[in-house]
Amino acid sequence: MFEAFENKKMKKLLDKFLDIWSVAYAGSLLGWDTETYMPASSIKERSIVFGRLTVLAQRMLLSPEFRELVNQAEKEEKLNDFEKGVIRVLKREIRIFEKLPPEFVEEFEKLTAEAKVVWRKAKEKSDFSIFEPYLTKIVDMSRKKAELLGYDEHPYDALLDLFEEGLKTREVEDMFGNLKPSLVDILKRIRNSDGYRDKHPLEKEKYDIEKMKQLNKKILELFGFDFNRGRLDISAHPFTNSMGIFDVRITTRYAGYDFRRSLLAVIHEFGHGLYELQIDEKLMATPIATGVSLGVHESQSRFWENMIGRSLAFVETNFDLLKEFLPFLEKYQISDVYRYFNLVRPELIRVESDEVTYNQHIILRFEIEKGLIEEKLDVSELPQIWNENMDRILGIRPPNDALGVLQDIHWSMGAIGYFPTYSIGTILAVQIARKMESEIGNLSDLIHEKKYGEIRTWLKDKIHRWGSTYPPKELIKRALGENMNVRYFIDHLERKYKHLYAI
Ligand code: MG
Repeated sequence: MFEAFENKKMKKLLDKFLDIWSVAYAGSLLGWDTETYMPASSIKERSIVFGRLTVLAQRMLLSPEFRELVNQAEKEEKLNDFEKGVIRVLKREIRIFEKLPPEFVEEFEKLTAEAKVVWRKAKEKSDFSIFEPYLTKIVDMSRKKAELLGYDEHPYDALLDLFEEGLKTREVEDMFGNLKPSLVDILKRIRNSDGYRDKHPLEKEKYDIEKMKQLNKKILELFGFDFNRGRLDISAHPFTNSMGIFDVRITTRYAGYDFRRSLLAVIHEFGHGLYELQIDEKLMATPIATGVSLGVHESQSRFWENMIGRSLAFVETNFDLLKEFLPFLEKYQISDVYRYFNLVRPELIRVESDEVTYNQHIILRFEIEKGLIEEKLDVSELPQIWNENMDRILGIRPPNDALGVLQDIHWSMGAIGYFPTYSIGTILAVQIARKMESEIGNLSDLIHEKKYGEIRTWLKDKIHRWGSTYPPKELIKRALGENMNVRYFIDHLERKYKHLYAI
């Protein structure tokens, strides 16, 4: 173990870290179970366990003994990049936990564990007032959290940083400011085009769930998912959960119709899973053996979903395979499936929205979160503000809270500051594809020639193998030779949808 590390003090530190890592590993497996097979009422005990495990990890991380090991290792000369990465990640975690008192952490964990259950009920009944008192507490605690953590420019920075190391409110505002005019313009042109349709016949086609499961497995095999180190299961909301780099589990859902939702979710989660699976094995069970940030993680899932799964080349090369498991496709052409995968229309639900409108959903959430943290907005106003803004941005108004303000789980989990990472990932995915093409050839050709191994290897070398060795912005700079730039994403939309909708 710890072959990537030469320094003796570092090895001692990593050995001690195994205590913390093991608690996190167990918590992660419980987290997966909670979303897949746990009986509903078990949450009563499970929420206590989550609270205590977090406190346990915090106590071990903050123990004088462990901190002394970090300090000793940090003082060593000639640390390699992996070793420096370990120090950076541990100091960051210690700093975060140090600033949040254990009572605060436990209270927040318990509150959000219960809030998740309440949110589910509120969503089922489509009644925001059921969730409102919990969200009010979560927002209050999040404001408190920002103050406890500290910040230079904006309290929301402190929350963003928890999900995307070093990300600032100002940068998110710039990103969306550069994006918005193009998004509005492209959507307008599409909606005014002759080819615009607000539905597609394939959405109604019913599939056999067993056959769909087999198809999903075939696609995972085609892409090179290692079933000896991972699983595919079912959950209401698809997700990826890794215990370590040798146990990476993904999920999808099966509604029985509208097959792209199941398939594209599998492809998306494959991207997340592959990132963890391709981390250098020599980093196993260390603090840097995990994806570096949510934005970089989402860039991997979006790369596979948008740049591969939604590509014409993917549909062309897999049309026969799709027909084998989805016989209704006999009535359709390749171009129908391609259009179905890339149907643009204003959508109430974020996770069902297309590449053109997706970021608008994130902008809405970002502006609400920022308003809440700045205390310019009150939780009680959210349903109204949500609906008015959906109408203003996309021209549609949610008929109820379930299809509006209650649709996402994130706020119930206390994850305020999370949403902007989805946009970062969506934008980076295009930029990564362009860089890859400049080095190993046209993506469409690679897909046609089924050279998924070459794609995986490129991603591994540039991004995956490093785990959290470098902070996210540095990793991107190293991999792409430049910082994130929304221009690539806008050009991608322009080119792709100019062709699809003749705009
Ligand atoms: Mg994702």
